[in-house]
Amino acid sequence: MTRAQLADPDLVQLLRDGRAEQIRPCIRCNQTCQVRDARNPIITCVVEPSAGHETDDPDWYVPTRSAIDVTVVGGGVAGLETARVAARRGHRVTVVERDDHLGGVAAIAGPAQPFAAWLVAECERAGVQVRLGTDGATATGPHVVQATGGRPGRREYEIADGAEVVDVVDVRRGSAVLPDTGPVALFDPIGGPIAVALAEELGDRAVLITQDQIAGNELSRSGDLAPANVRLAQRGARIEKRSLLRTVRPGSVELEDRFSGERRTVEVVAVVDCGFRLPTDPLPDASVQVGDCVAPRTVLEAVLEARRAARTL
Ligand code: SF4
Repeated sequence: MTRAQLADPDLVQLLRDGRAEQIRPCIRCNQTCQVRDARNPIITCVVEPSAGHETDDPDWYVPTRSAIDVTVVGGGVAGLETARVAARRGHRVTVVERDDHLGGVAAIAGPAQPFAAWLVAECERAGVQVRLGTDGATATGPHVVQATGGRPGRREYEIADGAEVVDVVDVRRGSAVLPDTGPVALFDPIGGPIAVALAEELGDRAVLITQDQIAGNELSRSGDLAPANVRLAQRGARIEKRSLLRTVRPGSVELEDRFSGERRTVEVVAVVDCGFRLPTDPLPDASVQVGDCVAPRTVLEAVLEARRAARTL
């Protein structure tokens, strides 16, 4: 129950009150709560960043003295947390989301899906209005919060005529469909959980391209590095280590050994880019930006920035 109570310090009280469905869920990510982390950081929580900072952080929910109309553009984690906190403070909040669902990337990839669902439910409970399928780029008003998320990063490899690269977010969203058979290249310059999870699902069809000596390098922070590599091996995923993606051609990719510079060709039927993302441009009427539209990072930064923005409203 330790992690569960980091994620929601009110867990016991909510249970006693018969409000179990309101408990903020621990998403079992281990990203910021590992007590055996050699760097000895303060234990905190990506979904409750005030954990470990109880004596420093302000009361995020201090009631407002003058309720205002707030428009939040973007219904991902940062947008929903802004809306939730602002509404709990007493403001009238509308979330405008261009997709047909809330939760952003967190709702479709990675471990934060239960948290995204909790945010949606809590926004509803707090009276937040939601407009789906609506582009908020032209949202106007004195209190517009931009939470439009990131966009695909630069592709620093060559894409030959007739070749195609799909973005991992589009794959998860269902707007890009992978072929039913044949090897699929997953380009993962991050070494994070997104590419590893997709490689696990694809099993022996996966060709995970990493510049590192091991798949999922960043998973060391969460303690999943060795287990993830075991799972990938058991699923039959092929790991192209020390590899830089140089060229995507129809039916193949050209990789370069990071140390020797030697190039080789690997046959694949599709290429999925699981790489870095970039911020989105500021909206003209936004008074504040929060989350990945500022700089793509983790759920923790999205939640923290959202709370800080909501408290200034
Ligand atoms: S950081 Fe992740 S695993 Fe740790 S308590 Fe928070 S949600 Fe749970």
